[in-house]
Amino acid sequence: MSFADILGHERIIDVLRRSLRSGKTSHSYIFEGISGCGRKKTALAFIQAQFCRVLPDDACGGCPSCRKVAGGNHADIHFIEPLPDKRDISIDQLRAMQRELSLRPYEAPRKCCIIEPAERMSVNAANSLLKTLEEPPGNALIILLTENAGMLLPTIRSRCQLIRFSNLPPEDLQTLLERTGITAETATLLAPMSGGSMQQALEQDNESLAARREVVLTLLEKLDINSIGTVFDSSEELSGNRDETVETLDMMISFFRDAVHISAGNSNIINRNVRPAIESISMRRSFPRNLELLNKIYETRRAVQRNANPKLALDNLFMNIAARER
Ligand SMILES: [Zn+2]
Repeated sequence: MSFADILGHERIIDVLRRSLRSGKTSHSYIFEGISGCGRKKTALAFIQAQFCRVLPDDACGGCPSCRKVAGGNHADIHFIEPLPDKRDISIDQLRAMQRELSLRPYEAPRKCCIIEPAERMSVNAANSLLKTLEEPPGNALIILLTENAGMLLPTIRSRCQLIRFSNLPPEDLQTLLERTGITAETATLLAPMSGGSMQQALEQDNESLAARREVVLTLLEKLDINSIGTVFDSSEELSGNRDETVETLDMMISFFRDAVHISAGNSNIINRNVRPAIESISMRRSFPRNLELLNKIYETRRAVQRNANPKLALDNLFMNIAARER
């Protein structure tokens, strides 16, 4: 895993590489971001770059160290996660890790440990980790992966360098999906609908997603302010529970983003396999109007995520989309 294999986190990689070149890496990091956005890959690439015997600030991929890290069997890398059937990471696991870190590395410059999900450490485990962070054994490196650093003890947070990962942009997600062997067609379907997470993308059911996309496009096409039933029927059909409604809104965001791109003369869109429907959205309204609606959809998404009633929020949004341009 070299840094080039990681997409969507260029700024973070820049920071990590600079620390490698200057020899000023920290002893402990928190990598915060949603599951599947690339935290663990980045952590492993960072460790591999430190272990690589050829390159100073990246992994060459070919030396014995690189091959062991890539193969998942490097003796100086340790993973801690909840044991099967257990909710939390236990103090016993932490103690075992501490014993391990206090030994000399077998062959790498330092011993490394990745803890995931860090917010699931039991209170005792977290307190025990705190001692390790206060007095790191040898030159050990500890990387905590979490979805929310706010759920870690403040004393742990203050002893780690916090690195925030953003969700993967759909374009990068699409490329990464294609690299796993998924067809371009399926990747364009999954990418905008996976909340910026590879994991979520891979868990999606393609067929039901494609069917839903057709439904949303058809209903959007039918919205007509002169026949108000089209507005309320569509919101009835498309609003579900909060998560489902957010998913629908994500879909609409990707449609309108593409429509805005087309109006701006940029033909590189995400929803390539339903291009005619996207072009129809783009042509039916002016560019500023589509941009305005895109912002409205984002706004609605935020409101639904917070607390708004999904059905009422969609009523409102669809009324807006159906309205004639002034
Ligand atoms: Zn190497």
